[in-house]
Amino acid sequence: MAFSFQNIMTNDIAIDLGTANTLVYVKGRGIVINEPSIVAVRKLDQEIVAYGTEAKEMQGRTPGEITTVRPLKDGVIADFELAEAMIRHFIKRVSMSHLRRPRVAVCIPSGITEVEKRAVRDSCEHAGAREVHLIDEPMAAAIGVGLPIEQPVGSMVVDIGGGTTEIAVISLSGIVTSISIRIGGDEMNEAIVQHFKRNYNLLVGENTAEYIKCTLGSAAPYSEKASMSVRGRDLVAGIPKTVEITQGEVQEALAEAVNAVVDATKLCLERTPPELSSDILDRGIVLSGGGSLLKGLDERLRRETSLPIIVAEDPLTCVVRGTGKVLEDIARYHKLLSKVKRY
Ligand code: ADP
Ligand code: MG
Repeated sequence: MAFSFQNIMTNDIAIDLGTANTLVYVKGRGIVINEPSIVAVRKLDQEIVAYGTEAKEMQGRTPGEITTVRPLKDGVIADFELAEAMIRHFIKRVSMSHLRRPRVAVCIPSGITEVEKRAVRDSCEHAGAREVHLIDEPMAAAIGVGLPIEQPVGSMVVDIGGGTTEIAVISLSGIVTSISIRIGGDEMNEAIVQHFKRNYNLLVGENTAEYIKCTLGSAAPYSEKASMSVRGRDLVAGIPKTVEITQGEVQEALAEAVNAVVDATKLCLERTPPELSSDILDRGIVLSGGGSLLKGLDERLRRETSLPIIVAEDPLTCVVRGTGKVLEDIARYHKLLSKVKRY
Protein backbone atom coordinates (compact mmCIF):
# COMPACT_ATOMS: atom_id res chain seq x y z
CA MET A 1 0.00 0.00 0.00
CA ALA A 2 1.34 3.39 -0.93
CA PHE A 3 2.16 5.54 2.03
CA SER A 4 0.25 8.77 1.71
CA PHE A 5 2.20 11.62 3.16
CA GLN A 6 -0.52 13.98 1.94
CA ASN A 7 -3.03 12.51 4.37
CA ILE A 8 -0.83 13.14 7.33
CA MET A 9 0.02 16.63 6.18
CA THR A 10 -3.53 17.86 5.71
CA ASN A 11 -5.41 19.14 8.69
CA ASP A 12 -8.82 19.89 7.26
CA ILE A 13 -11.57 20.95 9.61
CA ALA A 14 -15.35 21.21 9.54
CA ILE A 15 -17.10 23.63 11.87
CA ASP A 16 -20.75 23.83 12.91
CA LEU A 17 -21.02 27.41 14.00
CA GLY A 18 -24.30 27.10 15.88
CA THR A 19 -26.05 29.80 17.85
CA ALA A 20 -25.93 27.57 20.94
CA ASN A 21 -23.02 25.19 20.31
CA THR A 22 -19.91 25.14 18.18
CA LEU A 23 -18.60 21.76 17.05
CA VAL A 24 -15.34 21.10 15.27
CA TYR A 25 -14.54 17.99 13.30
CA VAL A 26 -11.03 17.22 12.10
CA LYS A 27 -10.53 14.96 9.13
CA GLY A 28 -9.27 11.63 10.34
CA ARG A 29 -9.87 12.44 14.01
CA GLY A 30 -13.65 12.99 14.26
CA ILE A 31 -15.40 15.55 16.48
CA VAL A 32 -12.77 17.14 18.68
CA ILE A 33 -14.62 20.18 20.03
CA ASN A 34 -18.24 20.39 21.19
CA GLU A 35 -18.74 23.48 23.33
CA PRO A 36 -21.29 26.26 23.85
CA SER A 37 -20.88 29.29 21.56
CA ILE A 38 -20.14 31.60 24.48
CA VAL A 39 -17.25 33.83 25.50
CA ALA A 40 -16.58 35.56 28.81
CA VAL A 41 -15.31 39.11 28.49
CA ARG A 42 -13.61 41.44 30.98
CA LYS A 43 -15.53 44.70 30.73
CA LEU A 44 -12.61 46.95 31.53
CA ASP A 45 -10.55 46.20 28.42
CA GLN A 46 -12.85 43.85 26.44
CA GLU A 47 -10.30 41.09 26.90
CA ILE A 48 -11.72 37.56 26.47
CA VAL A 49 -11.07 35.54 29.61
CA ALA A 50 -12.81 32.27 28.74
CA TYR A 51 -14.36 30.41 25.81
CA GLY A 52 -16.97 27.69 25.39
CA THR A 53 -17.74 25.38 28.28
CA GLU A 54 -15.65 27.38 30.72
CA ALA A 55 -17.52 30.57 29.76
CA LYS A 56 -20.93 28.86 30.02
CA GLU A 57 -20.15 27.79 33.58
CA MET A 58 -19.61 31.44 34.40
CA GLN A 59 -22.95 32.50 32.90
CA GLY A 60 -25.14 34.19 35.50
CA ARG A 61 -22.36 33.84 38.10
CA THR A 62 -19.89 36.43 36.89
CA PRO A 63 -18.53 39.16 39.13
CA GLY A 64 -19.37 42.70 38.00
CA GLU A 65 -16.26 43.13 35.89
CA ILE A 66 -16.85 40.05 33.72
CA THR A 67 -19.77 39.39 31.40
CA THR A 68 -20.69 36.42 29.22
CA VAL A 69 -21.65 37.01 25.61
CA ARG A 70 -23.12 34.79 22.92
CA PRO A 71 -21.69 36.15 19.69
CA LEU A 72 -24.34 34.42 17.56
CA LYS A 73 -27.55 35.09 19.40
CA ASP A 74 -30.84 34.78 17.46
CA GLY A 75 -29.33 33.16 14.40
CA VAL A 76 -27.32 36.19 13.38
CA ILE A 77 -23.89 37.37 14.35
CA ALA A 78 -24.63 39.72 17.21
CA ASP A 79 -20.99 40.64 17.79
CA PHE A 80 -18.57 40.36 14.90
CA GLU A 81 -15.39 40.82 16.89
CA LEU A 82 -16.24 38.23 19.49
CA ALA A 83 -17.54 35.80 16.86
CA GLU A 84 -14.26 36.11 15.02
CA ALA A 85 -12.22 35.67 18.19
CA MET A 86 -14.21 32.57 19.08
CA ILE A 87 -13.81 31.01 15.62
CA ARG A 88 -10.09 31.76 15.73
CA HIS A 89 -9.74 30.26 19.18
CA PHE A 90 -11.43 27.01 18.20
CA ILE A 91 -9.50 26.68 14.93
CA LYS A 92 -6.18 27.37 16.67
CA ARG A 93 -6.94 24.76 19.30
CA VAL A 94 -7.19 22.02 16.70
CA SER A 95 -4.61 23.23 14.20
CA MET A 96 -1.17 21.81 14.07
CA SER A 97 0.64 24.94 13.04
CA HIS A 98 3.70 23.25 11.62
CA LEU A 99 1.58 21.48 9.06
CA ARG A 100 -0.08 22.76 5.93
CA ARG A 101 -2.67 25.48 6.50
CA PRO A 102 -6.09 23.88 6.91
CA ARG A 103 -8.97 23.80 4.50
CA VAL A 104 -12.10 24.74 6.43
CA ALA A 105 -15.81 24.02 5.80
CA VAL A 106 -18.18 25.99 7.99
CA CYS A 107 -21.88 25.50 8.45
CA ILE A 108 -23.75 28.71 9.12
CA PRO A 109 -27.34 29.53 10.06
CA SER A 110 -29.07 30.06 6.70
CA GLY A 111 -30.56 33.38 7.80
CA ILE A 112 -27.25 35.22 8.00
CA THR A 113 -26.50 38.02 5.56
CA GLU A 114 -23.82 38.35 2.86
CA VAL A 115 -21.85 40.67 5.14
CA GLU A 116 -21.98 38.15 7.96
CA LYS A 117 -20.94 35.31 5.66
CA ARG A 118 -17.93 37.34 4.64
CA ALA A 119 -17.14 37.97 8.29
CA VAL A 120 -17.18 34.23 8.97
CA ARG A 121 -14.96 33.54 5.97
CA ASP A 122 -12.53 36.30 6.95
CA SER A 123 -12.36 35.03 10.52
CA CYS A 124 -11.42 31.58 9.26
CA GLU A 125 -8.81 33.06 6.96
CA HIS A 126 -7.35 35.15 9.76
CA ALA A 127 -7.17 31.98 11.82
CA GLY A 128 -4.98 30.45 9.13
CA ALA A 129 -7.37 28.68 6.76
CA ARG A 130 -6.09 28.39 3.22
CA GLU A 131 -9.55 27.73 1.79
CA VAL A 132 -12.98 28.39 3.31
CA HIS A 133 -16.24 26.78 2.21
CA LEU A 134 -19.61 27.79 3.60
CA ILE A 135 -22.63 25.52 3.71
CA ASP A 136 -26.23 26.11 4.79
CA GLU A 137 -27.36 24.45 7.98
CA PRO A 138 -30.35 22.42 6.69
CA MET A 139 -28.23 21.02 3.87
CA ALA A 140 -25.46 19.99 6.27
CA ALA A 141 -28.03 18.43 8.61
CA ALA A 142 -29.56 16.43 5.73
CA ILE A 143 -26.15 15.14 4.66
CA GLY A 144 -25.25 14.31 8.26
CA VAL A 145 -28.43 12.32 8.63
CA GLY A 146 -27.64 10.47 5.40
CA LEU A 147 -30.61 11.66 3.32
CA PRO A 148 -30.28 11.12 -0.45
CA ILE A 149 -30.03 14.84 -1.17
CA GLU A 150 -28.50 14.41 -4.61
CA GLN A 151 -31.35 12.29 -5.93
CA PRO A 152 -34.57 13.57 -7.51
CA VAL A 153 -36.60 12.80 -4.40
CA GLY A 154 -37.84 15.17 -1.74
CA SER A 155 -36.12 15.05 1.67
CA MET A 156 -37.41 17.23 4.47
CA VAL A 157 -35.42 18.35 7.49
CA VAL A 158 -36.45 20.41 10.50
CA ASP A 159 -33.40 21.59 12.44
CA ILE A 160 -34.26 23.13 15.79
CA GLY A 161 -31.27 24.97 17.17
CA GLY A 162 -30.79 27.53 19.91
CA GLY A 163 -31.62 30.70 18.00
CA THR A 164 -33.44 29.43 14.94
CA THR A 165 -35.50 26.63 13.50
CA GLU A 166 -34.63 25.89 9.91
CA ILE A 167 -36.96 23.87 7.78
CA ALA A 168 -36.08 22.76 4.28
CA VAL A 169 -37.18 20.46 1.50
CA ILE A 170 -34.21 19.32 -0.54
CA SER A 171 -34.01 17.60 -3.91
CA LEU A 172 -31.26 17.26 -6.54
CA SER A 173 -28.67 18.96 -4.27
CA GLY A 174 -30.74 22.10 -3.94
CA ILE A 175 -33.07 23.63 -1.38
CA VAL A 176 -36.51 23.65 -3.02
CA THR A 177 -38.51 25.23 -0.20
CA SER A 178 -37.25 26.58 3.08
CA ILE A 179 -38.39 28.53 6.09
CA SER A 180 -36.21 29.90 8.85
CA ILE A 181 -37.78 31.30 11.99
CA ARG A 182 -35.97 32.99 14.83
CA ILE A 183 -37.47 30.65 17.37
CA GLY A 184 -35.64 27.76 18.92
CA GLY A 185 -34.31 26.51 22.22
CA ASP A 186 -33.42 30.01 23.53
CA GLU A 187 -36.99 31.17 23.10
CA MET A 188 -38.15 28.16 25.09
CA ASN A 189 -35.70 28.97 27.92
CA GLU A 190 -36.90 32.56 27.92
CA ALA A 191 -40.54 31.39 28.11
CA ILE A 192 -39.69 29.41 31.24
CA VAL A 193 -37.93 32.42 32.81
CA GLN A 194 -41.02 34.54 32.08
CA HIS A 195 -43.34 31.90 33.51
CA PHE A 196 -41.57 32.08 36.88
CA LYS A 197 -41.54 35.86 36.87
CA ARG A 198 -45.21 36.15 36.08
CA ASN A 199 -46.58 33.38 38.26
CA TYR A 200 -44.19 33.20 41.20
CA ASN A 201 -42.36 36.53 41.24
CA LEU A 202 -39.28 34.41 40.97
CA LEU A 203 -36.17 35.24 38.99
CA VAL A 204 -34.41 32.13 37.65
CA GLY A 205 -31.22 32.08 35.58
CA GLU A 206 -30.95 31.08 31.93
CA ASN A 207 -29.03 27.90 32.72
CA THR A 208 -31.65 26.85 35.28
CA ALA A 209 -34.43 27.46 32.74
CA GLU A 210 -32.59 25.32 30.20
CA TYR A 211 -32.15 22.54 32.73
CA ILE A 212 -35.89 22.60 33.49
CA LYS A 213 -36.70 22.47 29.75
CA CYS A 214 -34.44 19.48 29.16
CA THR A 215 -35.58 17.47 32.18
CA LEU A 216 -39.24 18.40 32.63
CA GLY A 217 -40.19 20.15 29.39
CA SER A 218 -42.44 18.57 26.79
CA ALA A 219 -44.43 19.42 23.69
CA ALA A 220 -47.33 17.06 24.24
CA PRO A 221 -49.33 15.98 27.28
CA TYR A 222 -47.35 13.55 29.28
CA SER A 223 -48.85 10.67 31.21
CA GLU A 224 -46.41 10.64 34.07
CA LYS A 225 -47.04 13.22 36.81
CA ALA A 226 -43.68 14.83 37.30
CA SER A 227 -42.58 17.96 39.10
CA MET A 228 -39.38 19.49 40.40
CA SER A 229 -38.32 22.15 42.85
CA VAL A 230 -36.69 25.21 41.39
CA ARG A 231 -34.55 27.80 43.11
CA GLY A 232 -34.34 31.45 42.24
CA ARG A 233 -34.53 34.89 43.75
CA ASP A 234 -37.79 36.33 44.99
CA LEU A 235 -38.40 39.53 43.04
CA VAL A 236 -40.21 41.22 45.93
CA ALA A 237 -38.32 40.09 49.02
CA GLY A 238 -35.01 39.79 47.18
CA ILE A 239 -34.10 36.57 48.96
CA PRO A 240 -33.55 33.06 47.58
CA LYS A 241 -36.74 31.02 47.31
CA THR A 242 -37.74 27.52 46.18
CA VAL A 243 -40.94 26.69 44.29
CA GLU A 244 -42.36 23.42 43.00
CA ILE A 245 -43.20 23.33 39.29
CA THR A 246 -45.16 20.65 37.45
CA GLN A 247 -44.65 19.14 34.04
CA GLY A 248 -47.98 20.57 32.86
CA GLU A 249 -46.93 24.11 33.73
CA VAL A 250 -43.68 23.79 31.79
CA GLN A 251 -45.56 22.40 28.82
CA GLU A 252 -47.87 25.39 28.94
CA ALA A 253 -44.96 27.82 29.14
CA LEU A 254 -43.34 26.19 26.10
CA ALA A 255 -46.55 26.00 24.06
CA GLU A 256 -46.09 29.22 22.12
CA ALA A 257 -42.59 28.38 20.90
CA VAL A 258 -43.59 24.79 20.13
CA ASN A 259 -46.62 25.99 18.17
CA ALA A 260 -44.41 28.29 16.12
CA VAL A 261 -42.22 25.33 15.13
CA VAL A 262 -45.27 23.22 14.25
CA ASP A 263 -46.87 26.03 12.22
CA ALA A 264 -43.68 26.76 10.29
CA THR A 265 -43.33 23.05 9.46
CA LYS A 266 -46.90 22.97 8.14
CA LEU A 267 -46.33 26.13 6.13
CA CYS A 268 -43.23 24.63 4.53
CA LEU A 269 -45.25 21.54 3.59
CA GLU A 270 -47.93 23.73 2.02
CA ARG A 271 -45.30 25.41 -0.14
CA THR A 272 -43.77 22.16 -1.33
CA PRO A 273 -44.41 21.07 -4.93
CA PRO A 274 -46.82 18.07 -5.05
CA GLU A 275 -44.35 15.52 -6.46
CA LEU A 276 -42.01 16.19 -3.58
CA SER A 277 -44.87 16.17 -1.05
CA SER A 278 -45.65 12.69 -2.16
CA ASP A 279 -42.02 11.66 -1.47
CA ILE A 280 -42.26 13.19 1.99
CA LEU A 281 -45.47 11.31 2.64
CA ASP A 282 -43.49 8.09 2.15
CA ARG A 283 -40.19 9.10 3.67
CA GLY A 284 -41.30 11.43 6.44
CA ILE A 285 -39.61 14.40 8.09
CA VAL A 286 -36.27 14.18 9.86
CA LEU A 287 -35.73 16.28 12.98
CA SER A 288 -32.25 17.46 13.94
CA GLY A 289 -30.68 19.99 16.31
CA GLY A 290 -30.83 19.98 20.09
CA GLY A 291 -34.43 21.25 20.14
CA SER A 292 -35.59 18.00 18.54
CA LEU A 293 -34.81 16.31 21.87
CA LEU A 294 -37.71 18.12 23.55
CA LYS A 295 -39.93 15.35 24.85
CA GLY A 296 -43.05 14.74 22.78
CA LEU A 297 -42.12 17.09 19.96
CA ASP A 298 -41.92 14.25 17.45
CA GLU A 299 -45.28 12.96 18.68
CA ARG A 300 -46.85 16.39 18.35
CA LEU A 301 -45.57 16.84 14.78
CA ARG A 302 -46.72 13.35 13.87
CA ARG A 303 -50.21 14.16 15.08
CA GLU A 304 -50.39 17.52 13.34
CA THR A 305 -48.95 16.50 9.97
CA SER A 306 -49.94 12.82 9.81
CA LEU A 307 -46.45 12.14 8.44
CA PRO A 308 -43.73 9.83 9.68
CA ILE A 309 -41.42 11.84 11.96
CA ILE A 310 -37.91 10.58 12.59
CA VAL A 311 -35.60 12.14 15.17
CA ALA A 312 -32.06 11.96 13.80
CA GLU A 313 -29.58 9.79 15.58
CA ASP A 314 -27.46 12.05 17.78
CA PRO A 315 -29.28 15.23 16.63
CA LEU A 316 -26.75 17.61 18.22
CA THR A 317 -23.92 16.39 16.00
CA CYS A 318 -25.54 15.73 12.61
CA VAL A 319 -24.76 19.18 11.25
CA VAL A 320 -21.04 18.90 11.95
CA ARG A 321 -20.98 15.33 10.68
CA GLY A 322 -22.65 16.51 7.46
CA THR A 323 -20.20 19.39 7.13
CA GLY A 324 -17.40 16.86 7.66
CA LYS A 325 -18.70 14.70 4.81
CA VAL A 326 -18.73 17.74 2.53
CA LEU A 327 -15.18 18.57 3.55
CA GLU A 328 -14.00 15.08 2.70
CA ASP A 329 -15.46 15.31 -0.79
CA ILE A 330 -15.54 18.95 -1.86
CA ALA A 331 -15.57 17.98 -5.53
CA ARG A 332 -18.76 15.97 -5.11
CA TYR A 333 -20.56 18.59 -3.08
CA HIS A 334 -19.26 21.79 -4.67
CA LYS A 335 -22.74 22.68 -5.93
CA LEU A 336 -24.01 23.03 -2.37
CA LEU A 337 -21.39 25.43 -1.17
CA SER A 338 -22.52 28.96 -0.85
CA LYS A 339 -20.49 31.42 -2.80
CA VAL A 340 -19.31 34.46 -0.93
CA LYS A 341 -18.53 37.39 -3.12
CA ARG A 342 -15.06 38.89 -2.82
CA TYR A 343 -14.74 42.63 -2.85
P1 ADP B 1 -27.38 25.48 17.47
O1 ADP B 1 -27.23 24.74 16.19
O2 ADP B 1 -28.17 26.73 17.33
O3 ADP B 1 -26.06 25.71 18.15
P2 ADP B 1 -28.07 23.01 18.82
O4 ADP B 1 -28.51 22.13 17.71
O5 ADP B 1 -26.71 22.77 19.37
O6 ADP B 1 -28.24 24.55 18.45
O7 ADP B 1 -29.17 22.88 19.97
C1 ADP B 1 -29.09 23.62 21.13
C2 ADP B 1 -30.45 23.78 21.73
O8 ADP B 1 -31.01 22.49 22.00
C3 ADP B 1 -30.38 24.52 23.06
O9 ADP B 1 -31.37 25.52 23.08
C4 ADP B 1 -30.66 23.42 24.06
O10 ADP B 1 -31.30 23.93 25.22
C5 ADP B 1 -31.57 22.51 23.29
N1 ADP B 1 -31.62 21.15 23.85
C6 ADP B 1 -30.59 20.31 24.09
N2 ADP B 1 -31.02 19.17 24.68
C7 ADP B 1 -32.36 19.29 24.82
C8 ADP B 1 -33.42 18.47 25.38
N3 ADP B 1 -33.15 17.27 25.90
N4 ADP B 1 -34.68 18.95 25.38
C9 ADP B 1 -34.95 20.15 24.85
N5 ADP B 1 -34.04 20.98 24.32
C10 ADP B 1 -32.76 20.56 24.30
MG1 MG C 1 -27.30 23.96 14.57
